[in-house]
Amino acid sequence: MNSSNTNLKRFWSPKVHDLSPYVPGEQPKLTNLVKLNTNENPFPPSPKVFVAIQNQLNESLRLYPDPNATKLRQCLADSTGLNIDNVFVGNGSDEVLAHTFQALLQHSEPLLFPDISYSFYPVYCGLYGIKKCEVPLSEDLTINVSDFSQPNGGVILPNPNAPTGELLSLMDIQQLLMANTNRVVVIDEAYIDFGGQSAAQLVPEFDNLLVVQTLSKSRSLAGLRVGFALGQSHLIEALERVKNSFNSYPLSSESQAGAIAAIKDVSYFQETCQANIAQREKLAGQLKALGFSMTQSYANFLFVTHETLRAQEIAASLREQGIIIRHLTSSPRISNYLRISVGSVVECELLVQALTAMVAAS
Ligand SMILES: *Cc1c(COP(=O)(O)O)cnc(C)c1O
Repeated sequence: MNSSNTNLKRFWSPKVHDLSPYVPGEQPKLTNLVKLNTNENPFPPSPKVFVAIQNQLNESLRLYPDPNATKLRQCLADSTGLNIDNVFVGNGSDEVLAHTFQALLQHSEPLLFPDISYSFYPVYCGLYGIKKCEVPLSEDLTINVSDFSQPNGGVILPNPNAPTGELLSLMDIQQLLMANTNRVVVIDEAYIDFGGQSAAQLVPEFDNLLVVQTLSKSRSLAGLRVGFALGQSHLIEALERVKNSFNSYPLSSESQAGAIAAIKDVSYFQETCQANIAQREKLAGQLKALGFSMTQSYANFLFVTHETLRAQEIAASLREQGIIIRHLTSSPRISNYLRISVGSVVECELLVQALTAMVAAS
């Protein structure tokens, strides 16, 4: 995008001038890269996903998909112990979050979220004109839930948090819900399957809870674009109203079929999650031995800082060797940290080798 010619920007709607869009982690076209920058799962999707998608590839593609994604929503209801009217689905959880901001978080008071968190939240605030208040993490980069009881138009936070990986307990979430009974509390559980306990079980008890999840990380389906929200039916209805005012068919028939197959393959899901967790713990140990310290991650990434080497130099040097990780510079507090996705065994070995050489040479 390059509209440096100011004169040509006269075609833009006024609001577009002021947007600051999200910058996704890069998706380089080069092959043979060790890609540890966007928290993709190193395992392939369940083989059953391929069969389910193949089965959609026939003349019925001329038809629109089910606008209500009824089978997928029922499948998610069954797997979470909720009802179909507690489930909303969207084109990736980013779309689910976008609709959530518009449907439930647009009030006169500011939306609260941690100062170090998913960087899409301030972007949606900008898009929808929502006031924000970024609540500082504690000194040790953890969330203190009692900081989220000031007057607000809603609360949103990832659990585990990104990019720190730190996990809040269900008791913390309950405290947050009870302190904000007049506003919606959104728990973005993109990484919950890597060792956390989902707040989905609190949905029947709390009329102000919306839980958002994705198939992109723990189900290895970032390319399929499927996310969902769980909440009481009045919250889901608000999301449906926005969705049906925006795009009636956000999920293709392939996405719906593939997502159902992924959710139903419970044993594959559990095995790959366990393997990712084991790999995370192994990598954490290896990095600590090399002089890194890190937050306690319950996600599929580590958030690390080195005692002597600078984060920026580590990232640059790894990149020269074909290994890409994420150096987030959004806040000075974390500018010497690196977020490293937990890759395959081979990818992690290559990373550790490169870092070992770097530390030895320093
Ligand atoms: C990856 C991620 C998402 C978005 O996931 P998609 O479903 O792929 O859009 C949402 N929230 C957080 C915190 C994430 O890390």
